[in-house]
This record gives sequence, structure tokens and C-alpha cells, in this order.
Amino acid sequence: MRVVVSGGSGFLGSHLCEALLRRGDRVCCLDNFSSGRASNVAHLLRLPGFVCTPCDVTARFRVTGDVDTVVHLASPASPRDYQRHPLQTMAAGSRGTENLLELAVRNGARFVLASTSEVYGDPRAHPQDEDYWGHVNPIGPRSVYDEAKRYAEALTMAYRRSRGADVGIARIFNTYGPRMRADDGRVVSTFIRQALAGEALTVHGDGSQTRSFCYVDDLVRGLTTMIDSPRTGPYNLGNPAERTVRELAELVLLITGSHSPLRPLPLPVDDPVRRRPVITRAHEGLGWHPRVPLEEGLRRTVDWFAAQPDTLPRPPDRPTVGRPS
Ligand code: NAD
Ligand code: UDP
Repeated sequence: MRVVVSGGSGFLGSHLCEALLRRGDRVCCLDNFSSGRASNVAHLLRLPGFVCTPCDVTARFRVTGDVDTVVHLASPASPRDYQRHPLQTMAAGSRGTENLLELAVRNGARFVLASTSEVYGDPRAHPQDEDYWGHVNPIGPRSVYDEAKRYAEALTMAYRRSRGADVGIARIFNTYGPRMRADDGRVVSTFIRQALAGEALTVHGDGSQTRSFCYVDDLVRGLTTMIDSPRTGPYNLGNPAERTVRELAELVLLITGSHSPLRPLPLPVDDPVRRRPVITRAHEGLGWHPRVPLEEGLRRTVDWFAAQPDTLPRPPDRPTVGRPS
């Protein structure tokens, strides 16, 4: 099978490209390297089934050769990234989604959209199943991401209804693992970086807000299952093991052996209070469920971050008080 992966050099995309190549698929990665890194896929470039085409999927781009599936992951994804690049985020969800849907329809290919738990906004229903319509502030700072993804879902369904497109929608909940950027501002990467550097862990609000964290390998298995399935969903893909942000901070301290203090910072505007996926539909429809417990996934992620030279604390500058004679 030949799979086009937009955003393939990002955190999730690079793991997906790797998993697809491992099982024998050919992969065409499209990326503008705005939040992804060439180093994430550098090791794949020598494999015969892999090509990486630098391009902006919101503009004109060309994919030559056959295409069996298009997976659309290209979008700024962390709150820091999408709030720094609001217009690019809206474009990735709108024009980017349309361009990739067109590519899929032209080739008679399946289209899989990487949507998000953010379509539920700051949810009034808890936990969240796929029938919940969400509670999104349409003009708040998170809206550029939430509404772009909601539009992307609507467009995907419109292509299915009016053009007969074969589509699947994955609503991805907070996912973590190796290859997250240390400076992406997301809570797992930030806490690990801070703990390894001996800095205070920045806890927003009182840390009682919750998230449900999924290890990247589990999530990628969910995406490959959706690539192979004829089903549309939407499917929640996430790990229902819900933790408060404070619990996460304490777990990171335990795993890293760090004695860093916790530093309270103001809670960002519209920060969702609670988030936990109901994954019954993914379990029954796709046979998917996550396997890696948070403690194990965090240990693997900490090991990876600890091995990255740019994560380690810099040695103090040597005093320049004259040359030794
Ligand atoms: P990421 O920032 O690491 O990856 C996004 C990739 O898209 C990057 O490589 C970036 O360079 C690329 N990109 C962005 N705009 C582009 C454009 N216009 N043209 C071409 N490439 C572009 O983020 P991620 O965590 O890997 O997220 C991947 C996808 O999964 C995103 O669509 C995100 O919304 C979705 N998602 C992720 C999570 C999560 O917890 N990681 C949760 C929900 C949804
Ligand atoms: N968060 C935090 N400290 C940080 C970064 C994030 O307390 O340094 C909080 C953030 O306010 C939110 C949760 O952790 O309540 C998850 O944030 P993240 O940006 O990872 O994802 P999202 O808010 O999109 O779920």
C-alpha cells in the first residue's frame, strides 16, 4: 500500500511513517517542518519505500504515483504552537484538509483525519463519548485549533456524503512519547524537561484539571487500524486512565528522581477542566485499546529525553579570568 502522511515529520507523524514502513507499506511524507523536525525522519530516508517532500499542504503541492491512503496530520498541535500561529492553524484545518481530501478522491484513496479531543472543548459531559457535541468557545484563544478541527471533521463528512469519499475520523486525546519537542509547551514534555534540568515544574492553576495520557505506540496502532478499516467513526483514540496535572507532576518527579519544586502559574484562558475518552466505540469497531500504562510510557519517554543532548542542563559558563600561565 502507498500512504501519504501529511505532517509526517512531526511527533505522531514520524512514528506513523515508521510503523507503516515496518509493515511493508510505502510512505510519502509531506511536511513544511514548521513544528516537525527533519531529524525525526532522517533515519527513514535511506529506506527504499520512503520519500519526504517538503511542502505546505495549505498551498499547491504535487504527489506523483499511486496513492491508497491519505492521512492528514499536518497542523500546529500544541497550544503554544497553535496560539503562536493562529492563521496557519486555521489554514491547516480548512485548506489543508480540503487539499488532502481532493488528493484522496482523485486517487480513489481512503482519507483518515487526525482530529482531536479539543472538538469537545471544555466539556460539560464527562467522560466524553463520540456522541457528545462539545462545548467550544468560538472566539477564545484555543478556537483557532478547536474550530479548525471541527470544520475539518465537517468537511470530511461532506466529502463522504457528496463525493462518496472513503473517510475515517480519529479524535486523538493527549498523546506523549519520544520525539516530542522539549520546547513545545505541552505538559508531559515540559515537566520532563524541567525535572531533568532540576528546574521547577510549572503547574497551571491548582493542578486539579485532568487529562488522560496515551503512549505514542498505542496511538499509532490505533491510526494504522483506522487506515485498514473501512469505517468512518469518529473514533476516540486515547487512554482513559485520567490523572490530574498535579498527579502527573508528582509521577514525573518520581520517575526522574528529581527534587524539583512545583511552581504554580495562572491557568490559561479556556483550559479544559476535565478530559477522559470513552473508547468503547474504538474497542468494538476497531478492536483497539491502549496497552501501555502511564508509568511505563513515561519511563520510556524520560529515557529518550535524557539521551537528547539539548535536554540536559547546560554546564555553567566557565569564568574567563585570564589564561593559565
Ligand atoms: P507536531 O507539531 O509534532 O506535528 C505536526 C506536523 O505537521 C509537523 O511536522 C509540522 O511541521 C507539520 N505541519 C504543520 N502545518 C503544516 C502545513 N501547512 N503543511 C505541511 N506540514 C505542516 O504535532 P503532533 O502531536 O505530531 O500532532 C499531529 C496531528 O495529530 C495534528 O493534526 C494534531 O492536531 C493531532 N493531534 C495530536 C495530539 C497529541 O496529543 N499529540 C492530540 C490530538 C490531535
Ligand atoms: N500545563 C501545565 N504546565 C505546563 C504546561 C501545561 O500545568 O507547563 C497544563 C495545561 O494548562 C493543561 C494540561 O497541563 O491543563 C495539559 O496541557 P497541554 O498543553 O499538554 O495539552 P492540552 O491543554 O491541549 O490538553
